[in-house]
Amino acid sequence: MSASTAADLFRRTFGRDPDGVFSAPGRVNLIGEHTDYSGGLVLPFAIDARAQLAAGRADSSRVRVVSAQKPDEVVSVAVDDIWPGSPAVTGWPGYLLGAFWSVRETGRPVEPVDLVLDSQVPSGAGLSSSAAVECATVLAVSALSGYRPDPLTVARLAQRAENDFVGVPCGPMDQTASAACTEGAVLLFDTRSGTVENIPFDPAAHGLAVLVVDTRVAHSLADGEYGKRRASCERAAHRLGVPQLRDIAIGDLPAALDRLPDDELRRRVRHVVTENDRVAGTVELLRAGRAAGIGDLLTASHASLRDDYDVSCPELDLAVDTALAAGALGARMTGGGFGGSVIALVRAETNGSVGAIGDAVPAAFAENGYTSPVLRSVTPAQGARQEV
Ligand code: ADP
Ligand code: MG
Repeated sequence: MSASTAADLFRRTFGRDPDGVFSAPGRVNLIGEHTDYSGGLVLPFAIDARAQLAAGRADSSRVRVVSAQKPDEVVSVAVDDIWPGSPAVTGWPGYLLGAFWSVRETGRPVEPVDLVLDSQVPSGAGLSSSAAVECATVLAVSALSGYRPDPLTVARLAQRAENDFVGVPCGPMDQTASAACTEGAVLLFDTRSGTVENIPFDPAAHGLAVLVVDTRVAHSLADGEYGKRRASCERAAHRLGVPQLRDIAIGDLPAALDRLPDDELRRRVRHVVTENDRVAGTVELLRAGRAAGIGDLLTASHASLRDDYDVSCPELDLAVDTALAAGALGARMTGGGFGGSVIALVRAETNGSVGAIGDAVPAAFAENGYTSPVLRSVTPAQGARQEV
């Protein structure tokens, strides 16, 4: 979907041109899963599927929102009714109105706006359609009020919308990826220091491709399991006398495990500490120009999420195992887990593994009576930006 689709829908809906068109991408996380609330390292990249948002200043005291992916209706909410928990806001408009609220909470004067969303990022597939919507909206609302936040500020305001307005306790990874990634790179994000660095990653230049397998199993971060994992990490850090699990170095892991009271907590900690180490290993290989070498780290990450962190599910495991058996160099669940998507690093030769995996994974799903998965190839894309 192009920028003009959102703009066209804006014109049809509001009978005038938008003042600007903004966009923000979905993301996959290459590696570094369930580490972002322990001060750990994550390595996401923005994908070439974006939320487009056409925006115009409104000459009223209301914010109006429309989505091309939702039934044809204009949701109109008075500016004064836009606050967390407001009964005037329910469902999907909360992602846009929450971003509007979040920008307003900075204390800057924010103008009422009309917003038309048209997103290519599939919702609920673990590709962070919510962060794409929030980042595009933060950028649009800010720009129309004469404010140009830097990417990390866009991310922070977008995360605040999701945490405090929508009420989903996500970590900072998704919004940071959507706001701060650059084309042809993965984003090394140190969630403790808050620093980011773009590391070149061009799979095609290495004869590789990254496939995303959407298992079509709905995941939900809002459910209790995510909160339980966070609480376990905090409890373990407290017992170990460190501010966050990030503070446990890989060399200190055996001693740390000895000090924990039960097997479950030991497995949770082992995942977080070894996952941070795998991110560092992945970055080292990418910097050395050895992209094909990261496959084993991806697969090890999956095993750790499955066996130690207990956030996989049979469909994710089947997609990983089938992709590996069909020749993938590495594969892992990406995102929060319990559904959503798998990424697989594959060789991109003609009639090579992409084709083999494209056949094998749907066949395995059919054999097991699972809903047919959706496969797509993704390339590292640019973060949130103004299009027009
Ligand atoms: P994910 O971010 O992994 O795709 P979430 O549950 O976090 O899944 O966010 C999905 C929600 O974001 C949807 O249920 C909807 O409320 C909102 N959303 C995403 N894309 C759109 C869209 N194109 N139109 C309207 N709402 C959207
Ligand atoms: Mg989301």
